[in-house]
Amino acid sequence: MKGIQDSGLWRTRSFVDGQWLAGTARFTVSNPANGEPLAEVEEAGAAETTQAVEAADRAQRAWAKVPAAQRSTLLMSWHDLMLEHLDDLARILTLEQGKPLAEARGEILYGASYVKWFAEEAVRVYGDTIPGPSPDKRVLVIKQPVGVVGSITPWNFPNAMMVRKAAPALAAGCAFVAKPAAETPLSALAVAELAKRAGFPNGLFNVVVGTDAPAIGQVLTQHPVIRKFSFTGSTATGKRLLAQCAEGVKRTSMELGGNAPFIVFEDADLDEAVKGLMVAKFRNAGQTCVCSNRIFVQRSVYEAFADKVRAAVANLVVGDGLEEGTQIGPLVSQAAVDKVAALVAESEAQGAKAETVARVPEQGHYYPPTVLYHASNAMAAARNEIFGPVLPLIPFDDEASVVAEANDSEFGLAAYLYSRDIGRVFRVSEALEYGMVAVNDGILSNAAAPFGGIKASGHGREGSKYGLDDYLDIKYLCLGGMDR
Ligand code: NAP
Repeated sequence: MKGIQDSGLWRTRSFVDGQWLAGTARFTVSNPANGEPLAEVEEAGAAETTQAVEAADRAQRAWAKVPAAQRSTLLMSWHDLMLEHLDDLARILTLEQGKPLAEARGEILYGASYVKWFAEEAVRVYGDTIPGPSPDKRVLVIKQPVGVVGSITPWNFPNAMMVRKAAPALAAGCAFVAKPAAETPLSALAVAELAKRAGFPNGLFNVVVGTDAPAIGQVLTQHPVIRKFSFTGSTATGKRLLAQCAEGVKRTSMELGGNAPFIVFEDADLDEAVKGLMVAKFRNAGQTCVCSNRIFVQRSVYEAFADKVRAAVANLVVGDGLEEGTQIGPLVSQAAVDKVAALVAESEAQGAKAETVARVPEQGHYYPPTVLYHASNAMAAARNEIFGPVLPLIPFDDEASVVAEANDSEFGLAAYLYSRDIGRVFRVSEALEYGMVAVNDGILSNAAAPFGGIKASGHGREGSKYGLDDYLDIKYLCLGGMDR
């Protein structure tokens, strides 16, 4: 079946309370590399989501009492199954999302690394004792799971964005209800199958798939049982869902859009900077929230850097992600291609010079890797999150002006800088209004690090020792009469 060795991983029904739910209607999931239908998936909506939330409530009460070491062992079994089925999970991901197979494998390993990380962290949820304010009082702090967690995730990382939330939630003692994007539900359903095989109790981990996102989202943000809602997606949708959560005063984590600056100072190692840029720009065909969106290059090295970028982009291989050697796959949809094309056309009208250097297949939702020379921070491609393989090169004169331009955005997710001057590295890193700054590196996300943004890029952190706190409530115990 489509080259999948273990056909049990090819699931087309929602996973609720340990069962695969039949639906009354179906929707089609297509392969963005050629537009062909891949699977007919059974629709779930508000009723099935409510069923999942109620099952999660029952499961969570028992799960919270399971010793952390046991929760950790179960998570490790899930992790091991992900690695065992790495090839199939990667293939499913490439088929529904389009990214090259090597990148899809990378995403599965990346998602699994969070499961391992939080399996290890589960046993380290420490409390505190704090000196009391008077002789008769003692102050204790304990941490407890928040309860049932609802989540909604996007199509660009159909495995990792969901797993990166589920792992800390389950490690903390929460139960989880996931709604993946309707374009890419198959990866989430495959890891649900592995959760079942790992022996997760019924109802602990649920995946609801359907095309009526507002109806599913309504339940996940407003059902009284939901205590925490975790979202990854666009800022516009995030704002709407935050407003829905406000009614029930739910705890939230919001991983939203970005508009990452990538700053190359004249003292940088230009070859290293180009290497980092190629990854930070073109991974997932430019469809990541941390993709470098505005590339600022100091004027004294602008032409030299631009020449190196031109040469690197010329070598990119664009095509079907399942084909050997492909580095850049298709965009998710024709609408995405049209949006990127419109941003390039508007930027050209504003004075940028576009150069498209790689060939792309005729069939499928492809956009050719494009460099926009002599772009500016005011142009359409710099003001908007491009979400495509377009690289605007913007000249700048000095440190103060580039920091001001880099910060001139509503977003504050990731920023990149290349410099070999240690003083400048600290000054600029501290001045950048972003949740994450990569210095002389094009990849900044890993399980050990707190991933997340500020400003309109959201709040909350995923990964690291801080990631578990997003799924824990702090309770303070006041012990009186201790002197009697
Ligand atoms: P999106 O439109 O916000 O969709 C994301 C998810 O929200 C999908 O599951 C979608 O469901 C659902 N959704 C849409 N409207 C909804 C509503 N009214 N109620 C409930 N759910 C709703 O985002 P996107 O454009 O697909 O994804 C790309 C965005 O995600 C970019 O802005 C990117 O920067 C951001 N992102 C951020 C991070 C991060 O960690 N900060 C990581 C990855 C991506 P359907 O697909 O079923 O409609």
